[in-house]
Amino acid sequence: MSAPNTVVAKDKMRGTPASGFDPETLRADFPILSRKVNGHPLVYLDNAATTQKPQAVIDALSGYYSTHNANVHRGIHTLAEEATAAYEATRDEVARWVGGVKREQIVFTRGATESINLVASSWGEKNLHKGDGILLTQMEHHANLVPWLQVARKTGAEIAYIPITPEGLLDLGVLDSLLADGRVRLVALTHVSNVLGTVNPVAEIVGKARKHGAVTLVDGAQAVPHQDVDIPEIGADFYVFSAHKMLGPTGVGVLYGRERLLDEMEPYQTGGEMIRLVTYEEATWDDLPHKFEAGTPNIAGVAAFAAALRYLRALGMDAVRAHERKLTAKLLAELDTLPWVTVFGPKNPDVHAGVVSFEVEGVHPHDLAQFLDSVGVAIRAGHHCAQPLTRLLGRTATARASIYIYNTTEDIERLVEAVQQAKQYFSGS
Ligand code: PMP
Repeated sequence: MSAPNTVVAKDKMRGTPASGFDPETLRADFPILSRKVNGHPLVYLDNAATTQKPQAVIDALSGYYSTHNANVHRGIHTLAEEATAAYEATRDEVARWVGGVKREQIVFTRGATESINLVASSWGEKNLHKGDGILLTQMEHHANLVPWLQVARKTGAEIAYIPITPEGLLDLGVLDSLLADGRVRLVALTHVSNVLGTVNPVAEIVGKARKHGAVTLVDGAQAVPHQDVDIPEIGADFYVFSAHKMLGPTGVGVLYGRERLLDEMEPYQTGGEMIRLVTYEEATWDDLPHKFEAGTPNIAGVAAFAAALRYLRALGMDAVRAHERKLTAKLLAELDTLPWVTVFGPKNPDVHAGVVSFEVEGVHPHDLAQFLDSVGVAIRAGHHCAQPLTRLLGRTATARASIYIYNTTEDIERLVEAVQQAKQYFSGS
């Protein structure tokens, strides 16, 4: 497994200076970044959807299948023991990564979506009743909205939303009154918006929610890949994210849960791997976290996720955030000079992660994305799995550029230049 080209002290996860971080150098670790798209060098700015993979992760995937492949937790043979060790080692790595929690609190799922569905089904359907309140925000991804709509439909619980300000921040002025009647049993919110890029003050919101007796879930799909996240510091009862948005393979997600709650919850799925004893009449469940991992998991994906974490650790998450903040500030500033561009979300890069949604006057977002693709620039256009928010913005779609570690100043320049060309092409101005 190759280490990233940008070498910093091995165990230095926090406080790595941005100057030690060279996106130009580390690009060589990502084979896909050397390909051309429509005859142009690829500028990949769709990282909120999924990130590209470094050679170390690709090697870990193929290395697992080439040398260790077996099923986990079952076999008493060398390969099975190696596969189990690789799978469980990633659990330890993840438990350390999110702030030093117990390995029993880390459940592997297929992704953030499945993690939220697990909580909605195993905790929500059992603990929420008619008239109970579920508090979400107006900026949730469908993954943290639709499962709660389903729970509300099944239980009679009622959903309310923390509104957003015109600048794209959560309007915390109304939080106290939303919590005041004591009916809210669950507060579920995104750490970072996948549309507006807003970095929410989750520790503050979780603190207030817990004070009012609510259980909390934070959707960290757009946060954990981009900044240092310490779940105990935030204090959330549940916290979810996906490996594929942080250099890892698709089909691997994480659910962190408070042990007491996970213990009380019924399994999400049942079958092999998650039982202690089965008779023809009944079954009992295995201990945490296996109770929530029915069937054969994505062993290769989980094993390779450790390589992604090692890669990011070598860069340092503070350096990752500093790099993305710099590029985001540049993109926001450049788009601000174009009077026919509207940017959605906070203007302040301190509370704006590397996700920038915007609109070009007179150019449909899909046309814009298609034009950009023709010159090798990959962005996303659409509702970004947040239809209610897009509607709230008065749009049916927006264009979205999202940044990661391998993006460079030149990528931002090529994007802005291509946006200007598109404007000219479509409106002749
Ligand atoms: N929440 C947010 C904020 C997201 O951006 C995404 C992915 N777009 C998800 C949840 C769902 O992640 P996944 O598709 O990996 O389950």
